[in-house]
Amino acid sequence: MDLNINQIYKIGRKIGSGSFGDIYYGTNTITGEEVAIKLESSKSKNPQLEYESKVYKYLQGGVGVSFMRWYGTEGDFNAMVIDLLGPSLEDLFNYCKRQFSFKTVIMLALQMICRIQYLHGRCFIHRDIKPDNFLMGTQRKGSIVHIIDLGLSKKYRDFTSHKHIPYREQKSLVGTARYASVNTHIGIEQSRRDDLESLGYVFIYFCKGSLPWQGLKATTKKEKYGNILEKKLSVSVETLCQGLPQEFVEYLLYCKNLKFDQKPDYLYLAKLFKGLAKKFQYHNDHLYDWFAIRQTNNLFVKYFNSIKYKDQQRNPNAGNRKSDNSIDISDIKVTAKDIKKLDNYIVLRLLTMRNFYKSIHYYSPLKSSALTDYNVDTVFMNICNRDYEISNQTCFLKPEDIIKIN
Ligand code: ADP
Repeated sequence: MDLNINQIYKIGRKIGSGSFGDIYYGTNTITGEEVAIKLESSKSKNPQLEYESKVYKYLQGGVGVSFMRWYGTEGDFNAMVIDLLGPSLEDLFNYCKRQFSFKTVIMLALQMICRIQYLHGRCFIHRDIKPDNFLMGTQRKGSIVHIIDLGLSKKYRDFTSHKHIPYREQKSLVGTARYASVNTHIGIEQSRRDDLESLGYVFIYFCKGSLPWQGLKATTKKEKYGNILEKKLSVSVETLCQGLPQEFVEYLLYCKNLKFDQKPDYLYLAKLFKGLAKKFQYHNDHLYDWFAIRQTNNLFVKYFNSIKYKDQQRNPNAGNRKSDNSIDISDIKVTAKDIKKLDNYIVLRLLTMRNFYKSIHYYSPLKSSALTDYNVDTVFMNICNRDYEISNQTCFLKPEDIIKIN
């Protein structure tokens, strides 16, 4: 798109599409800095970008809130220029084969609770809590979870008197049905408790890979929402959290028992996960699952390149010879096909993960819910291949052990 925003920002490639507009990469033509630019048609019947920009501006300064640089109208578009962030938790969840380890879930949970606490402390509720609306930062802020998409957020209390909005019913569903609280489905006005209940569903989704009300068949949206509500009502919290540590049950029960205008005890919720981290002997070192996988991929590329390099040294005609007769490794490309060829990829990945964690714990439908079960130094290979389960209680895996498994 050939559009300059505020004469400074040049629009680049599209990053993503939202329900109300599209997000593009942008560059500050003076400083060269990269930014994100959200556009909305200025003829939109339900414009919301100006509202969102005001909320961003008001929340400025909070950890994990993007800096809003500019808002205005340019040509046929309303435009908002904000800090460029990294991938969403949904993107990273897919990258990690749709399951996070408990360690990653705990580290994310602690930050996500903080973001919501900050938002609530500044008198707003989010109303669309889902993995797509949490983005990791970039560079120095690469480990920080950011909250985005404030277009559906709502002021739930007065800025000065803190008077809460009144209880109301028969509201239509705002947000995403998969993560919506039961009260939101029923049509009760959303408040702080609903953001936290949705967050609880996100945690379970991260651990288990899906929620029981996903993929229900329906022909209309109304029918689909009805089916989701029915399922949410019929599955008890204990069943929903089966196979997960008790802390997940306590988190959800606490949120579901909050009164409409009650201030949640965020510290209590954070302490649940801090306690769990302590039981598992995890450190909040920001080494998320995707770091381990990325590192393994890098290691693999290096390993594979070295094989190709040796091949080419042996067979000089096959290589990319430079004029001085040396071989340029950077020219050798590893393809997805190469990766598949290497059986030992799984092994390499496992070994790398072992450098990251003393033990990795994943939810497994085969395990009982007793916490002690998770204390065994067990690595589930469900990241790579759900059929593998490697148990090793005494020492780190050695390559020869793995060859036996393969
Ligand atoms: P909508 O409000 O229209 O749903 P979002 O604000 O959720 O739009 O943005 C849509 C998508 O654009 C997000 O899922 C995310 O992938 C991407 N995105 C949003 N904000 C940023 C940002 N600051 N940096 C990078 N990507 C972003």
